[in-house]
Amino acid sequence: MIIETKNAKETFQLGKKIGERAQPGQIYTLNGDLGVGKTVFTQGVARGLEIREPVNSPTFTILQEYEGGRLPFYHFDVYRIGDIEEMEEIGYDDYFFGEGICLIEWAQLIEEILPENVISVTIEKDPAKDFDYRKITIEGLEEI
Ligand code: ADP
Ligand code: MG
Repeated sequence: MIIETKNAKETFQLGKKIGERAQPGQIYTLNGDLGVGKTVFTQGVARGLEIREPVNSPTFTILQEYEGGRLPFYHFDVYRIGDIEEMEEIGYDDYFFGEGICLIEWAQLIEEILPENVISVTIEKDPAKDFDYRKITIEGLEEI
């Protein structure tokens, strides 16, 4: 499914709706260039999960855990990962195969360890369109 947004607020709202409907054990992969809106979308998901803490992209940690919401929320940003072993050191499989919600920014960098049944979200700009226009492609979800 493809959703088009006109501004950051709409992307946030889309994430929020997904967070509200998220089911235990789901993994969301998030891909798209730097500055496209992955973190905005993630903040929406966190809001939808009723997480009150601020969510941003930590520079030096691959994983941030949020336990205060409707479900545990595991926010991975693997942009700076050097080696897949770093994921093993974190013990990623406890998160990937647990009962919380995983959301992974820059998931294409760890493709080799991703399970098959992930929900994939890709955010793209379109140079022919407005500066704030985004095309968001979601695969693996029947409906929103
Ligand atoms: P990323 O995590 O992908 O690097 P961020 O979410 O940190 O990107 O930043 C996205 C930036 O783009 C924000 O400054 C946001 O306000 C802006 N923006 C403009 N239009 C949109 C849109 N339609 N959706 C999401 N963000 C948008
Ligand atoms: Mg980000």
